[in-house]
Amino acid sequence: MRGAVVLFFLCLSYSVFSQPSYLVEDNEKYTFSMICEDLKQLQINHAAFTNLDTIGFSEFGLPLLCLKISNESPFKKYPIFIAGNIHAREDYSSKFVMKFANLFLLSLENKDSTYKSANDLLKTFDFYLLPVANPDGLKIAHEDWEGIEKFKENVLQLKLVGKLSDWKANGLGVDLNSNFDDGNHLYKCSSISQEVPASEGYKGCFPAEAKETIALQNFIQRVQPILTLSFHTKGNVLFWGDCDTYEKYNGIDQWISWKVSQKTELKMTELSYNPISYGCGMENYIRVKTDYLAVCVELSPMTAKRDQHPDNQFNKLVWSKCEQLPIIYLEELLKCQEHWPIQLRNYLKK
Ligand SMILES: [Zn+2]
Repeated sequence: MRGAVVLFFLCLSYSVFSQPSYLVEDNEKYTFSMICEDLKQLQINHAAFTNLDTIGFSEFGLPLLCLKISNESPFKKYPIFIAGNIHAREDYSSKFVMKFANLFLLSLENKDSTYKSANDLLKTFDFYLLPVANPDGLKIAHEDWEGIEKFKENVLQLKLVGKLSDWKANGLGVDLNSNFDDGNHLYKCSSISQEVPASEGYKGCFPAEAKETIALQNFIQRVQPILTLSFHTKGNVLFWGDCDTYEKYNGIDQWISWKVSQKTELKMTELSYNPISYGCGMENYIRVKTDYLAVCVELSPMTAKRDQHPDNQFNKLVWSKCEQLPIIYLEELLKCQEHWPIQLRNYLKK
């Protein structure tokens, strides 16, 4: 009997004090508050490798939470930036960043075998993971008004294209990935452009108008990531370069994305030629202003409508193809080191 009591309390203490090692909701709706909780728990569970920081706030005052994964090292390392959900409705992208973070951390501690080179990569790279670049928009697309109730009336007065779940912009109706200060704001115009704040297609009155854009630009200038992967969810393609900046990279931008496309089934686009359509994205800003590499990764198959694929299709449509995508980028980047352009070769000497 006494043994049974001891066993009962052992089980109780285990369930109370231990946390499951895999946290991410990859099969159902993954809300902003769930993501924030999981980020905090990841930091607790993997304290030796993580630091959770707020790099700024959204228009409605929600934090832009960035999880840094690194280890103690006397040597300077290359920063890598991985961002999701700059477009609100594209919530596979935050799932992807969170799942990558969780499994990478478990791989570092030999509790999972998804990323066998995790410890080696950490000798060379520091990872900055921002799962939700547009928290207000994500909450609107999820019709999750908790904590932002006072903004609801204003949101509902903005021009709505489609349904609320199709929301793509930030909380004030600015498409963040059309609002970066890359020099193209004046000309930027696409087939879905809007003249007024709207659920999608409005580039803002001026570049870097949105608080989220300013926070991201400041972060990029401070950290100077040598490679940024910005995740979206439309079409299984890689937007790897544009005509204004491709000469900066000695061809390695095209090469590493080509290698990734071979191993993931994502297709490479042609070089983007027209700044009127491609301009003012975060990846364009990074290429123009820092001279480092940036890729817009579109994760899931194209759909004819705005509707996103169902939550429970994430593993089948995205993870099964792209689980290794960030790792392939880094490994290919290291393999072509002899062709690195000067700004990369000199990076650690700065
Ligand atoms: Zn997008």
